[in-house]
Amino acid sequence: GPIVSAFPSLLVSKDNKLWAGTFSSGLYVQDLNSGKLQSFKTNPALKNTKNIITSNAISKIIEISSGDVSVGTYGGGVNIFNRDKTISHFTESNGLSSNDIFDIIEDESGNLWVATLSGGLNKINLTSGKIEVFKIDNNNPETIKSNTILGLLNTKDYLWMATKDAGVARLDKNKLEEGKVEFMHIGTEQGLASSFTYGLLEDESGYIWISHSKGLSRLNPFNLYSINFNTSHGLQGSDFHSGSFFKAKSGRMFFGGPNGFNTFMPSQVALNTYKPPIRLTKFSQSNTETPIHELFNKDGVLVLNFNETVIDFEFAALDYTKPELNQYKYKMEGHSEVWSDLGTNNHISFSSLSDGYFTLKVKGSNNGGVWSDELAIPIRVLPPLWRTWYAYLFYFIVATLIFLSLVHQHQIKIQRQMANERKLHRLAYFDSLTGLPNRQSFYESMEKFLSLAKRGKYNAGVMFIDLDRFKRINDTLGHNFGDQVLMQVADRLRHSVRNSDFVARNYEVKSFKNEIARLGGDEFTVFLSHIVNPEETTLVTQRIIESVSQPIVVDGYEVSVTPSIGIAMYPENGTTVQELMKHADVAMYQAKENGRRTFKYYSNALNDKALERLELEELLRAAVVNQEFELYYQPQVDLKSNTITKAEALIRWNQPKLGFVSPVDFIPIAEESGIIVELGDWILQTACMQAKAWLDAGLDNIKVSVNVSSVQFKQTNLIDNVKNALALSQLPSHLLELELTESAVMSDVEDNIERLQHFKDMGITIAVDDFGTGYSSLSYLKKFPIDTLKIDRSFVDEIDSNENDAAIVKAVMVLAETMQLNVVAEGVETLEQLRILDKYECQYIQGYFFSRPLPNRDFVKFVRSEFADKSTWKLDLIG
Ligand code: C2E
Ligand code: CA
Ligand code: CA
Repeated sequence: GPIVSAFPSLLVSKDNKLWAGTFSSGLYVQDLNSGKLQSFKTNPALKNTKNIITSNAISKIIEISSGDVSVGTYGGGVNIFNRDKTISHFTESNGLSSNDIFDIIEDESGNLWVATLSGGLNKINLTSGKIEVFKIDNNNPETIKSNTILGLLNTKDYLWMATKDAGVARLDKNKLEEGKVEFMHIGTEQGLASSFTYGLLEDESGYIWISHSKGLSRLNPFNLYSINFNTSHGLQGSDFHSGSFFKAKSGRMFFGGPNGFNTFMPSQVALNTYKPPIRLTKFSQSNTETPIHELFNKDGVLVLNFNETVIDFEFAALDYTKPELNQYKYKMEGHSEVWSDLGTNNHISFSSLSDGYFTLKVKGSNNGGVWSDELAIPIRVLPPLWRTWYAYLFYFIVATLIFLSLVHQHQIKIQRQMANERKLHRLAYFDSLTGLPNRQSFYESMEKFLSLAKRGKYNAGVMFIDLDRFKRINDTLGHNFGDQVLMQVADRLRHSVRNSDFVARNYEVKSFKNEIARLGGDEFTVFLSHIVNPEETTLVTQRIIESVSQPIVVDGYEVSVTPSIGIAMYPENGTTVQELMKHADVAMYQAKENGRRTFKYYSNALNDKALERLELEELLRAAVVNQEFELYYQPQVDLKSNTITKAEALIRWNQPKLGFVSPVDFIPIAEESGIIVELGDWILQTACMQAKAWLDAGLDNIKVSVNVSSVQFKQTNLIDNVKNALALSQLPSHLLELELTESAVMSDVEDNIERLQHFKDMGITIAVDDFGTGYSSLSYLKKFPIDTLKIDRSFVDEIDSNENDAAIVKAVMVLAETMQLNVVAEGVETLEQLRILDKYECQYIQGYFFSRPLPNRDFVKFVRSEFADKSTWKLDLIG
């Protein structure tokens, strides 16, 4: 049990008396010889009276050299039991610094030293009765640093004090003798395990043993080095008590604490001063041991993989005197910079070190607390695979490869595209038979030349070459043969036209090559882009005629072809591609007329043309007077009722000398010259009369559709003319339709709407001719009071092969449907075209498939009988 009892202090004095102090009942003295017991208690009323103790709480009893007994009390200072049975009092009232006494000791000079709870140290000179006090004095650094002194020890030169908060204090008695107060303190800073000290004992060798709040220590008074002991050395506990220390005569020491007491012979305490080496004894990773000699790489570094850091080190301090008491501490530099105490545990474990460099430092001590040198283990934790330099290199390579492969794929794609483009380009720009540029290509490069030429003074020549009577070769020897001939002609042209013939002089258009092209059939062209005068062209032309005219041998057959060449010069004969080509063409025909195998420059072409026109105009005027015109009628078939419901009137001109002249050629002249007004009137009247005649003849409900030129349409009196025609013919107005071209209708929107409304009000229907060739805004179309759309022939032509055309026709059908317009498809020539139009629900059909435009007699015949044959088209469609 705790060494605390009702008798804090005991003493057997030399006169064989037992002195026993109690905690609250005063002091008892028993004569061990007689057994007589005396008790001393205080009496507040008689406090300062002699022979009465000053407190019932006794803390220390010592016998001093004079034979007197000195008793320390709590609350009553020091009582000295003199041999004469009197008691002397040293208390606060006569100079003691505190009445609470912990310890008393006598020195060799007969002075009493008194340790107090709160008054520091007192020195009582028993001879003089003088008291000297040593307590904290902030102005005197040499004095004691604690006012609470728990234990005292007197040695030869020094007085030692165990203080509560300043460690062990040491007073130099010799210096004090000389009048100099000099305290020295030994605490934790000097290596003492604790500064809260309780008791002090000196052993035979002069070492001072100190009990304190963390065990015991042995202090070397000479070098002030202490060795600390704790429970691991067998102490009763880590704390001790004040007043509980005692040295027997034999030298044996006793120190008491809360769990009992320790007693030992100081000379026999095994003090180990051996500084042990420290070694790594075991290493394991995830509980798998690795032999130490395999652990380090050649640089002595412990290399760990990122995912292998569940590790355990075992160390040993190589001191085997009491190995279980060896202690360890470590520090993982790079991770923590402080030493961690392991106690007697010699294992260090880590569970997840990050990647990087570390140094594990370990120290071990022997059982006496002597520490080894540091053992340092360099550790490198490798970064995880995905963060190593070779991983980065790998990423880089992969990224590069991906990039290169993308670039490569892109290049391939571009190459393919380019190849395709080249192929398309070839198809679009080259003639597949001869490999020469085609018409498109030729026109484009000429166009380009002309656009550049506008900015400078350039001369160029366009040659139009036609082979004479080539058709005969084709007809007699076959197309294959003809093709072979054309290929050879192309070759000869290539050789005859050399770029070196023409030195580009200052030309911005230098880059232009003389281009030979095949326009189609037996027609070739040569564009001479760098010439100064026609003579140069003549030279080439002659060479071409010479070369091409040489006999050509194909498959053993020898044939001879001759060219006729027309030449137009830029800029004299034209400044546009169309002009130049047309004039070269004209010149070529002249060359042919001049007897073939020759060439002709186009000359005075404008005059020629004007003449031509004037001539034609004259002839036209005459024609009107001479009534050389006739109307033909082309039936329109209603697919729904499978009957003929309408006929378009188309003018025909049979010129006595020229024969039939196409309306395409003369209508524009008639329009320009104003002849159309008179002519149009005639057409209108004739058509109305004819339709009335059909009606009268029993051709029920056949409408006549009359083309009205835009020139006519703009005339203010057209309405009167129409009224006139109807009046004269007596034709019901609903059997008359007027055909106006899309461009004529759309040109003057507001005016035209009004005009058209007039006709509509009269009961006349309006058809928009050549629909799709203009660029009508379809939203506009809604505003016009029209009845019929005539889809232009050009869309019908390729409706069965050209998706675009088909789509346009289909769209027109949808549009017409929503606007409730009739649709007539023009120029229907084949059953296939008809089939598609029927599928698109186009109701009205006009075209050669059913009938060409016919003179009246034939038209009537057609309606009456011949159409019956054609009306089986539906069966034909089914097949
Ligand atoms: P248009 O008004 O578009 O007349 C239709 C033209 O197409 C007619 O040519 C007709 O013969 C032709 N055609 C009809 N079906 C087919 C077919 O299946 N295949 C082919 N290849 N052609 C077909 P035409 O008679 O030579 O008239 C040409 C143009 O002259 C007319 O085109 C029209 O703009 C004008 N025209 C003709 N007669 C008159 C007229 O009496 N007055 C006015 N102002 N212009 C007229
Ligand atoms: Ca027409
Ligand atoms: Ca038309």
